[in-house]
Amino acid sequence: MKKRLNLLMPLKNVKYNLIGLKSLENKDQKYKLQSDIMEVTKGIHQFSGVSNSYIVSNKEILLVDTGMPGKSGEIIDYIKNELNRDPHDIKTIVVTHHHFDHTGSLDKLKEISGAKVAIHSADADYISGEKTQHGSLFMIPVDTFMKIIYRSRPVKADILLEDGDKIGDYQVIHTPGHTSGSICLYNPNNKVLFVGDN
Ligand SMILES: [Zn+2]
Repeated sequence: MKKRLNLLMPLKNVKYNLIGLKSLENKDQKYKLQSDIMEVTKGIHQFSGVSNSYIVSNKEILLVDTGMPGKSGEIIDYIKNELNRDPHDIKTIVVTHHHFDHTGSLDKLKEISGAKVAIHSADADYISGEKTQHGSLFMIPVDTFMKIIYRSRPVKADILLEDGDKIGDYQVIHTPGHTSGSICLYNPNNKVLFVGDN
């Protein structure tokens, strides 16, 4: 049987980053006003926006990226109200790279859940504030502005990832380029690949 690869990308156009997926009925209108949320494949719930973030719901909950600043409330509400889970079930938050549209709500989500934060070792100093954002002349002031507006605080990583490491069912694939510590996460069981901004 031909196996399908579910490619999960944090892009605005959800039409081609969701392959063979079914959408959930949006029971609560308030979610529609914020992110589009859908279960993209069994147990994986996508919040789409400027950048996507994902809840991977198994025995424990894994978050992959946290989206822009200000997203923690709706992610926690969804976990409580739609998944009927406790936010403390979030045991690990993996960020695919350090950019603020992926790590904007990281400090709040870590604080609420007590989860361990995992990031590739080459990007860890950016979320801890030891290094400052590199990138385009446009992105640097935007990053600074967003951090001030949302009072995002630096986060010290608990787990420094390297190529080949495992997070639950997911294998870490180091894919430097977009940032030096960009990673993909691959689960060979369900063929899901989180690609970050790669
Ligand atoms: Zn990025």
